[in-house]
Amino acid sequence: MTDKHQTPLAASDPEAARAIASELSRQQRHIELIASENFVSQACLEAMGSCLTNKYAEGYPGKRYYGGCECVDIAEELARERAKKLFDAPHANVQPHSGAQANAAVYLAFCKPGDTIMGMSLAHGGHLTHGSPVTMSGIYHNVVPYGVREDTHLIDYDELRQKARDCRPRLIVCGASAYPRVIDFAAFASVAREVGANLMVDMAHIAGLVATGLHPSPVPYADVVTTTTHKTLRGPRGGMFLCSEEHAKVMDKALFPGTQGGPLMHIIAAKAVAFGEALRPEFKVYQQKTLSNARALAEGLLSRGFRLISGGTDNHLMLVDLRPFDITGKEMEARLGECNITVNKNAIPFDPQKPFVTSGLRLGTPAMTTRGFDESDMDAVAELIFLAATDFDAQKDKIKAAATELCAAHPIYERR
Ligand SMILES: *Cc1c(COP(=O)(O)O)cnc(C)c1O
Repeated sequence: MTDKHQTPLAASDPEAARAIASELSRQQRHIELIASENFVSQACLEAMGSCLTNKYAEGYPGKRYYGGCECVDIAEELARERAKKLFDAPHANVQPHSGAQANAAVYLAFCKPGDTIMGMSLAHGGHLTHGSPVTMSGIYHNVVPYGVREDTHLIDYDELRQKARDCRPRLIVCGASAYPRVIDFAAFASVAREVGANLMVDMAHIAGLVATGLHPSPVPYADVVTTTTHKTLRGPRGGMFLCSEEHAKVMDKALFPGTQGGPLMHIIAAKAVAFGEALRPEFKVYQQKTLSNARALAEGLLSRGFRLISGGTDNHLMLVDLRPFDITGKEMEARLGECNITVNKNAIPFDPQKPFVTSGLRLGTPAMTTRGFDESDMDAVAELIFLAATDFDAQKDKIKAAATELCAAHPIYERR
């Protein structure tokens, strides 16, 4: 390649440019089944790569601690207004750098060190930031976890209520990273009300489904709703929270200056772009396809002898119990990775294996649905997963070739 065709990055830093180019090629040639990942639009990428990264804008639109914020104010207002419209929420804060940061602000706003919080156990599908002992949420609070029932794998709402009556938590955290079923927010709100706790719902995984009415909304039930913006919502990597006017002031303060400094204005502009996309009718069609693809993948796996936690899925993800094939999550992740299929091992509820080994896989369809995979493609993927579980050594070349071919049929980020 001659110099005049090189990008500024390739010209000034070939090593970093090569790493990025390799990652692009990996994304193009691998089937991405990690349930928390997606592919943003070119418009969203352009906003993220913009000059807004240069701007300091501590504070909020119209009330900044720096001069020169009149243009970034427009971008943040667009993001806030679109978020409010998308989720029918009275107040939106689009500044959290991540889902974890949004959650940290809620703990700061509603709890003191030593207060009791309840969150879904990580081992049953909850998130680290919901009280795991290795995180700030677990270090600074007394955590009482709840989980799913062993017979149904559904959230044990009776256990939740009983434990809440016993421990009288300050805050109940609802939401999960590996729960394939609809969450009953009204049930959580009823428990919170009974015991005088505040309710936080973390809808990180399902935000895109909530935005399009394909999962019930937590907004009417929760004191604060937190989310990431990069999972089913298909925006830039980041976080957000929604709340009533009543909690807006204390929550905004808890985020800035409570837990963050200057906001990432280029990311906030990209959030505005993604929320604009999510308000269009095509986004609902995309979410519907994400769901039908998840059902097709689930049926494809069940019909080939896999077991699924809770027996199936209502949303964009599923948890596969690999024990019928006598193989661990760790081993399956490695086998599929060798064949250009990216997944993550995941503990299943009551998993006999250690967290770094696991008996399960978590699979999701948001990313491949963005690439245009349909239900027959998802059945083909189920067959490849079956071959990897049952006849890997003999079939691995064939699996990899089939995965590469499926990707080639659904290109992403091709140069125009
Ligand atoms: C992904 C996730 C988060 C964390 O988001 P980060 O942006 O990685 O900090 C928080 N809560 C839930 C439920 C999640 O699934």
